[in-house]
Amino acid sequence: VNGQKTTSDRYRTVLNPANKQALASVPVASREQLDVALDAASDAFPSWAATPVEQRQAAVRRLGQMLRQFMQDFKELLTKEQGKPIETHSGWELAGAEAWCHAVSTMSLPEETVLDDSERVAVARHVPLGVVAAIIPWNFPVLLLIWKVAPALVAGNTVIVKPSPYTPLCALKFVELAQQVLPPGVLSVLNGDDDMGPWLTSHPKIAKIAFTGSTATGKLVLQSAVGSLKRVTMELGGNDPAIVLQDVRPKAVAMDLFKCMFNNAGQLCAAAKRVYIHEQIYDEVRDELVSIALTAKVGDGLDPATALGPIQNPMQYEKVKCFIADCKANGYTFAVGGEIDPNSPGYFIPITIIDNPPDDSRIVREEPFGPIIPIMKWSDEEEVIRRANDTEYGLAATIWTNDMEKANRISQRLDVGTVWVNDFPYIHPSAPFAGHKMSGFGVENGKLGLQEYTSTHVTYRSKVVKY
Ligand code: NAD
Repeated sequence: VNGQKTTSDRYRTVLNPANKQALASVPVASREQLDVALDAASDAFPSWAATPVEQRQAAVRRLGQMLRQFMQDFKELLTKEQGKPIETHSGWELAGAEAWCHAVSTMSLPEETVLDDSERVAVARHVPLGVVAAIIPWNFPVLLLIWKVAPALVAGNTVIVKPSPYTPLCALKFVELAQQVLPPGVLSVLNGDDDMGPWLTSHPKIAKIAFTGSTATGKLVLQSAVGSLKRVTMELGGNDPAIVLQDVRPKAVAMDLFKCMFNNAGQLCAAAKRVYIHEQIYDEVRDELVSIALTAKVGDGLDPATALGPIQNPMQYEKVKCFIADCKANGYTFAVGGEIDPNSPGYFIPITIIDNPPDDSRIVREEPFGPIIPIMKWSDEEEVIRRANDTEYGLAATIWTNDMEKANRISQRLDVGTVWVNDFPYIHPSAPFAGHKMSGFGVENGKLGLQEYTSTHVTYRSKVVKY
C-alpha cells in the first residue's frame, strides 16, 4: 500500500490444494487500509498520467524482466497456491505473463488528427481514467493480473489489485517487487475477505473495474459499480463448445483435444466444456480420450509426472462433486472417471468423461469448471452449430478439422469472442479477447484492450484567426 509493506490485525490461512496443508498466513485488509491505498492511488495518479508514455512502457517492461528474474520462485509459489503442474502449466503462465509485459510495453495510443480542413483541425486523444480496480480469479492468478495491470499502467492509470483470497500469494509478492520499479501509490495490492470486492466496486474513488470471474459475481460487480458509473470490463464464465469434424484422424486429434478439455484440470475459462464429435468417428475418439485419461497422472503439481493438479479450493471441489453426483443420479454413462478417492490428500477429482448425455443435462448446460466434460455425437452441420450456440455463454470455441473452408464457415457462425481452429490454447497479446452474451463485455488485450483503460478526448481548433 502506497509503496510500503503493511500488515493487518486479521489473517487468513492460504492452503495448498494438493495436500490441504497451510501454506501461508496472509493479512486481511480492513476498510481503512483500502481507503489509505485509494488515497495513495488517487494522489499518485496525476503525476503518473503525466509521465511520458515511453517511461510508463519502460516500467512495464521492467516488471516483465522481474518476473523472468524470479521465474523459478514464482513457478513454485504458483504451483503451491494454485495446484497446477509446475513446468508445463506454471511455467507457461509465468512465461506468458512476462511475454505480455513485453508486448504491452510496445503498445501506445497515439493522438489522431480526425479532421483537418481549411477551417479547423480536430485531434482525438486517449486519456487515462484514474484508479483502476483489478479483480482477479484463482485459476490464473498471475497471467490475469498482468492482463490488467500492464495495459492499465501503460495507459497512465494507477491500480489497486484484489487477488482471489484463495490465491493471493503470487500477487502480493509481484506487487511487492514492483515497488522497485514504480513510484509509491501507482500499484498496490490488498488481500481481503468477502467484503473487499464490494468495498472496491462501490468506492467512489475507483474509476474503472477490470473484472475476471464468474458470471454470477460479474452481475453483482455491475450492480455495485452503477452508483458512480464506473467503467467496467467483464471477463466472465464460459461453456465453450469443441466441434470435431469427421475428416480428422482420431488418434491424431485426441491428445490436443484432451489438452483443450482438461487444461488446468478444466479450471480454464476457455477450455472445451462441451465436445461435439462427428458420429462417424465418435467411438474411436472417445476410446482414445479414455486411454489418454487412464495414463494421465492426477496429482501434486510439484511432481514433474503430474498432468492435472487438484481443484483449487474446497468450494469449487464441492461444486464439481455435485456435477458427478448429478450425472450418476440421472444414469448417464461415464466413459471414464467419476470415482473420487475418499482418502485423497488434496482436492483431487479423477479425469471424468460423460458419454453422450442429453443436451438438456446440467453437465451440458452449466459450467462445472473442473475435470468433468461431456462428449456428444453430431451428424448434421446446421444442427451442431445450433447446439453449439444454444447457451447463455459466448466466450470461445474450438474446431478440429483439416478442412479450412468448413472451419471458416462454421467459425463465422459461432456466437463467441474467440475461435481456435486446431490451435488451442494459443493466445497472443495483440489479439483482442472478449466474451459475447453472458461471458461478459468489453475487451482485454491488443489495442482495443488498451483503449479500455482510457477515455476519449477531442479538441476542435478553429484555424480562422478571429480575435
Ligand atoms: P469469482 O467470481 O468467484 O471470483 C472472482 C474474483 O471476484 C475474486 O477475486 C473474488 O474474491 C472476487 N469477488 C467475489 N465476490 C465479489 C463481489 N461481490 N464483488 C467484487 N468482487 C468479488 O470467480 P472464481 O471462482 O475466482 O473464478 C472462476 C470463474 O472465472 C469461472 O466462471 C471462469 O469461467 C471465470 N473466468 C473467466 C475468464 C475470462 O477471461 N472470461 C478467465 C478466467 C476465469
